[in-house]
Amino acid sequence: MIVGGGFAGVATARALKRSDADVLLIDRRNHHIFQPLLYQVATAVLAPSEIAAPFRELAAVQKNVNVMLGEVIGLDLGARSVDVSCPDAGTRKVPFDYLVIGTGMRPSYFGHDEFAEHAPGLKSLADAETIRARILGAFEAADATTDACQRARQMTFVLVGGGPTGVELAASIAELARVTLRSQYRRVDPANSSIILVEGSKRILPTFAESLATRASRRLQKLGVEVQTGVKVEAVDEKGVVANGKRIASATVLWTAGVAASPIVKLLGRETDRAGRVSVGPCLDVPGVPDVFVVGDASSVMSDGRPVPGVAQAAIQQGRYVGRLIARQLKGRKPGQPFRYRDKGNMAVVGRNFAILESGRLHISGFVTWLVWVLLHVMSLPQAQNRLRVQTQWFWSYFTGQRSSRLIPERAAAPSEQR
Ligand SMILES: Cc1cc2nc3c(=O)[nH]c(=O)nc-3n(C[C@H](O)[C@H](O)[C@H](O)COP(=O)(O)OP(=O)(O)OC[C@H]3O[C@@H](n4cnc5c(N)ncnc54)[C@H](O)[C@@H]3O)c2cc1C
Repeated sequence: MIVGGGFAGVATARALKRSDADVLLIDRRNHHIFQPLLYQVATAVLAPSEIAAPFRELAAVQKNVNVMLGEVIGLDLGARSVDVSCPDAGTRKVPFDYLVIGTGMRPSYFGHDEFAEHAPGLKSLADAETIRARILGAFEAADATTDACQRARQMTFVLVGGGPTGVELAASIAELARVTLRSQYRRVDPANSSIILVEGSKRILPTFAESLATRASRRLQKLGVEVQTGVKVEAVDEKGVVANGKRIASATVLWTAGVAASPIVKLLGRETDRAGRVSVGPCLDVPGVPDVFVVGDASSVMSDGRPVPGVAQAAIQQGRYVGRLIARQLKGRKPGQPFRYRDKGNMAVVGRNFAILESGRLHISGFVTWLVWVLLHVMSLPQAQNRLRVQTQWFWSYFTGQRSSRLIPERAAAPSEQR
């Protein structure tokens, strides 16, 4: 049984392809999401279906995989079963022989869950669509109002958290405002929007080398993003944010600051770190519970004396490792070597034509790095049709500056209606 069909869960299932295992993949969504491109859905570059793949496609090509749509809400390690809440079918108890948990992370508001209402995080397609509707709705509201203060509030976008997601999102909003929406409004000029990236620590991109973070920061400023570092957000409400005692009036506040492990892993009753990740053994096993593993973002493990980072590559490698380990056990072989993370490098993109890459001692940035980022992301998308559609969208967007998913769905109210 694999709980969670993210990068880690899907890699586990694939690694079991030629084994005798019957694989049951349970997820509360019916689709896998390519999260590194979620920010492009949130900023109207791509449509949700272009970065997602239904799990049933995996079941179609891998005969030993079965899929169940439902949320795991309970765990009985003694009885070796999980409780799954299935939409319109109640709760079911499902037994397992081996259990692999890859339920990932969710946004964390550092004890201020009340911020969530006003500052959505970016983790699912629904989040991306909510953010897209808020951004586009804010420009509409700015165009409709005659009140100068309201207009300024609508055209101020605050992003809380200067990690890769905050940086990528801020740059993309800046290009949306200054390139895509240019000359499309009569009463406002979207190019006059304020896009403010607020970071609590001394610099943005703390997981990158300082020199690369500085280059990214300069690039953001060139795109018109105001980067504020060493600034703590104290309140988020319907009027905007209060940061270091000062209010920033904004109708669109986005939360890209913290993450915490999905709550289901708490049910294992084992030691967790500050972010709620389970401390697993060297083979990604849950200590004291045979044949139960935690993979991907939900696990906390060291490799070569360093913590394994919460990135897609690490999740894929962990999933693959556990899938192979189980396949070996099913053949009666010994588990093999402990898990070892092979760091292939870390990238972030800052708008069109600029990305940064850190791989060991190699620290590069600029246009060629951006081309590498484009190629890697197209190649990593889950289905051939996604790869083709994303390439077409990027090509169109690159040469015209336009974005084809600029929709405010009727079900998602514009910010002015919500407040
Ligand atoms: C906006 C964003 C941008 C990112 N950009 C990058 C990047 O550029 N490069 C990079 O390397 N990494 C990036 N990451 C991080 C990367 O996406 C994660 O490290 C990776 O997705 C972790 O994989 P995972 O399988 O552990 O979890 P996830 O991919 O999060 O998958 C978890 C799955 O578990 C399911 N689930 C959760 N709880 C339950 C439950 N109780 N019952 C059933 N199902 C459940 C969820 O629906 C989900 O499908 C980004 C993350 C985000 C959010």
